[in-house]
Amino acid sequence: MRTTWGSATDRGLTRAANEDALLAHPPVFLVADGMGGVAGGAEASRVAVEEFARLAGQATTTADEIHACFRRTGERLAVELAGTRAGTTVAGVAVASVGPSAYWLVFNIGDSRVYRWANGVLDQITVDHSVVQELVDRGELATDLVASHPDRHVITRVLGTSGAPEPDYWMIPAGARDRLLICTDGLSRELRADVVAVGLRENASPQDAATWLVSRAIAAGGRDNVTVVVVDAASDADDTGGPDPSQRASVVPPPAGTSGEGAATSGPGDTNEEEADR
Ligand code: MN
Repeated sequence: MRTTWGSATDRGLTRAANEDALLAHPPVFLVADGMGGVAGGAEASRVAVEEFARLAGQATTTADEIHACFRRTGERLAVELAGTRAGTTVAGVAVASVGPSAYWLVFNIGDSRVYRWANGVLDQITVDHSVVQELVDRGELATDLVASHPDRHVITRVLGTSGAPEPDYWMIPAGARDRLLICTDGLSRELRADVVAVGLRENASPQDAATWLVSRAIAAGGRDNVTVVVVDAASDADDTGGPDPSQRASVVPPPAGTSGEGAATSGPGDTNEEEADR
């Protein structure tokens, strides 16, 4: 199955650095939201991208290969970030196949998300590993109270420096006109689902959709790093055109340095929020 895609990431308006990272190179598309202090968070998300990027260039991949990427990332974090509380979410989609049929292999640890947009309907595929999601699942918290809950940023699973990674997986038959949205919580917390749906409906090119969604999240407050990857199944009918500039493979680790403007806003009181709010 051929794919076209676009991606965008932004530090946002209040964070000192961008600790998100993304990978957009068939057969793997993902976002990673680092946490645990600026240096460690950025490093953790970058390591995840590096390990999953080893699959880049393959026609398809498998759940075993994806799981090996999670394991290798965890092993590297245990060594390279030993003694820290650093970790990262990872959520994404890989192109897989069962016999002649193409499938989306969706994977997730944490509270970044994968959605499918098909036939005008937006479906959230992944289920957050978060305290508030568990409360909702148990019927102890109404969904309209999630955004204001004091523990809304607390996640229950992470790809970190200890323990074997426990990702969830989904296998979904790929539709010829499917569009997948992969995003960090900097998007899903800022934009309501109906606004996200408008962005996916109104922007034909996946790059335009990614750029639109990130800019809307910034306009809505930009309180966190925001990262978006949009992946389209390209039907054979689309193969007649020339190369689409949005098909350039992109591997975007967060910038190594931070500008001086971050220092003005990072006092001791912000440290907890930095670690709690990914
Ligand atoms: Mn975040």
